Amino acid sequence: MPRCKICGNKRNFACSFAPTAAPTANPQPYGLAANFDNQGTLLDMECMGASLDDAQAAFENQSNCFDICTNCGGNDIVW
Ligand SMILES: [Zn+2]
Repeated sequence: MPRCKICGNKRNFACSFAPTAAPTANPQPYGLAANFDNQGTLLDMECMGASLDDAQAAFENQSNCFDICTNCGGNDIVW
């Protein structure tokens, strides 16, 4: 299961290489974010610029894709 080594977050991660939405007044920092439960199971994903293909690829390769902690912004994630 994913865990942020910096803050201990196990639930909220984002994909650093998914495309983000077009710049707006309040751009989302990540194109794709995901929520996990305490067992490390992916519960849901939020596409904020990523396509469904991006989301599907991320779902199939979670440990490579979700490499940013959305709690502290760190990228030191262990799986
Ligand atoms: Zn963190």
